[in-house]
Amino acid sequence: MQLENRLDSIIKKVRSYHPDPNITQLRDAFEYSRRMHEGQTRKSGEPYIAHPLEVMDIIADLRLDVASLVAGLLHDTVEDTDCTVDEIRTRFGDDVAFLVDGVTKLSKFEFNTRQEAQAENIRKMIIAMSRDLRVILVKLSDRLHNMRTLKYMSESGQQRKSRETMDIYAPLAHRLGLNWVKTELEDLSFRYLRPEAYYDIAEKVASKKRQRQSFIREVIGILNDLLTEHGISPEVYGRPKNFWSIYRKMRDQQIEFEQVFDVLAFRIIVDERAQCYEALGLVHNLWKPIPGRFKDYIAISKPNGYQSLHTSVIGPYQERIEIQIRTHAMHKVAEEGIAAHWLYKEGKAVPDRDDEKFAWLHQLMEEHQDHEDPVEFLESVKIDLFHDEVYIFTPQGDVLSFPSGATCVDFAYAIHTEIGHRCSGAKVNGKMVPLKHELKNGDIVEIITHKNQRPNKDWLSFVKTGRARTKIRKAVRKEQRERSRELGRELLDKELKQYNTNIRAWERSGRLDEALEQSRFGTLEEMLGEIGYGKMQADTVIKKFYETDDDGDQQKKKKKTNDKESKLGKLWSKIVDRGKTGVVVDGIEDVMVSYAKCCNPVPGDDIIGFVTRGRGLSIHTRDCKSVSHLERERQIEVRWANDTEVPDSARRPVSVRVYCTDKPGLLANISQSFSAAGVNISEAQCVTTDDRRAVNTFEVLVNNRDQLTRAMKDIEKIKGVYKVERTASSSAG
Ligand code: MN
Repeated sequence: MQLENRLDSIIKKVRSYHPDPNITQLRDAFEYSRRMHEGQTRKSGEPYIAHPLEVMDIIADLRLDVASLVAGLLHDTVEDTDCTVDEIRTRFGDDVAFLVDGVTKLSKFEFNTRQEAQAENIRKMIIAMSRDLRVILVKLSDRLHNMRTLKYMSESGQQRKSRETMDIYAPLAHRLGLNWVKTELEDLSFRYLRPEAYYDIAEKVASKKRQRQSFIREVIGILNDLLTEHGISPEVYGRPKNFWSIYRKMRDQQIEFEQVFDVLAFRIIVDERAQCYEALGLVHNLWKPIPGRFKDYIAISKPNGYQSLHTSVIGPYQERIEIQIRTHAMHKVAEEGIAAHWLYKEGKAVPDRDDEKFAWLHQLMEEHQDHEDPVEFLESVKIDLFHDEVYIFTPQGDVLSFPSGATCVDFAYAIHTEIGHRCSGAKVNGKMVPLKHELKNGDIVEIITHKNQRPNKDWLSFVKTGRARTKIRKAVRKEQRERSRELGRELLDKELKQYNTNIRAWERSGRLDEALEQSRFGTLEEMLGEIGYGKMQADTVIKKFYETDDDGDQQKKKKKTNDKESKLGKLWSKIVDRGKTGVVVDGIEDVMVSYAKCCNPVPGDDIIGFVTRGRGLSIHTRDCKSVSHLERERQIEVRWANDTEVPDSARRPVSVRVYCTDKPGLLANISQSFSAAGVNISEAQCVTTDDRRAVNTFEVLVNNRDQLTRAMKDIEKIKGVYKVERTASSSAG
């Protein structure tokens, strides 16, 4: 009887917002679900049907249609009973069957905490969302009730569900604009994830409850009087913020509870849009606004459709309070989110492609559905779901929203992929800034592109949007592949030259196909890539071919190699003789390397390789001025080998200039500093100026950057030394 009463009260709730609900179907679904779950109990000991019934109640709070309510009642039948989707279709129609099927499929993928499985789970949710948002809304309702009754679960289950809720379901509710669902999910998860912090805050909020409530009443009274006096009849509410947002504030700003001033949030709801601004003016006139806290989400609504004015003021008793001002219509959207948009349109639950309120959803879909790596996918989706937004303008006045911390590169990629790829600089509010510049609310951003610019791997370290991250990764990978192929082509052609032939001739003669057939490579491109990466040597490819070949070519080769060792062979042996050069190209050590004279890099410097024509790789420091003049396509990522022991043969000559007073004994001090750091001086030059100053230039040999820095720092400390600098070596080679 208790359950029937509960059902009646939920039906009453449905009638309050639905003009003509199919009550018979709701009652049928309840009876059917109860029969199917007969004999099952929840962990709390209640009959199982209590759970779907409460889920239905939450769906009614979301003011959804009858199909969703029925699906809520039936959502666990396929998973937990003998019931099938077909049976549901026969009894309740296609719409309900689709929803139950969708929720069942989602549920199967939840519980795995492994990152990849979780990613797969989110992927499924997003796909389900784009097909029919009601699937997600029913699923969210299911999760909300499970979280409300989490205390009956095992401790590990509590942790797992709470983490998942905090990571995925709460952000999802936020993106869908379901504010009350989001805050409740957050507080419920918070209670299990950080019980001590949760109860600490709960206690502190409760301890001043009476005091706070009288304060709330007082503020409401003041605001009511103020606005009514000016002909606005508002509804004013006040409440403490949810615990999780208080905790987040404490954690992010490293402050104590007592320092979180705007624990109280007030809401003023008015009839018309113009009255929002009017009310804001009156409030600011009464209480001093806190600079930087005013946000106009009416002029620029959030991507989930949310609209409101936000401000924080110093209220009575010098207490900081947060005030939100919005119309009744805006309030409805704020609380009901996405559901408010298609409430009574039964059967039409796929968001319209042209509806800009759902643009973010389609974007999320398109960008993430064919992600190759599930972990990268998860990363991107999490970024896109779980962010605070900033609003940025194009010079034309269009507004785009970004996660906070987004940079100029994120902005460029949001405009267009090609603009992202080619962005070389940016102007923020008319001023030039670096590409990694973080954008702030209201910035006007103009992107400067250059046709020779390419996506840079370093950008990955600062971009904040999933979109930019994905596009850059793809482009960098593609470019690395292309560069290694080009290098491979060059190396193979060079080797073939020994036989007076080349790749093109090989291709024409069909010899190439034969070589490919004998190798493990399917295509020439693949093979060139392997050679370029150094995973395979060009002469091995050719040798293989000639070894199994019996026409005179082998003789030719032998004769040639007898005459003189192949040029490339010499090259390789030269490298081997040189020992460790200290430079690694994509994990391969055997590369001919020379150090650029312009910047003369030493181990430890941030470096980049340049594929020269015929001289192997030339190594520059990344910030070397001449790098910007080099062809971008021939630049290649390199790094120093991890060997801590650098052989003496690999020591690098560096020139160090020391500006100091012309004082006896100083030179001795300087050279002592060098030798203390283990640096050998090979040459020293001293020039004195007439104002009793001296410029000493030392040619030294160093093992690595650290050693050099140590010596230079030491010298800097010597009394009488003004400045120490590293210069391009005159004798570097
Ligand atoms: Mn359930």
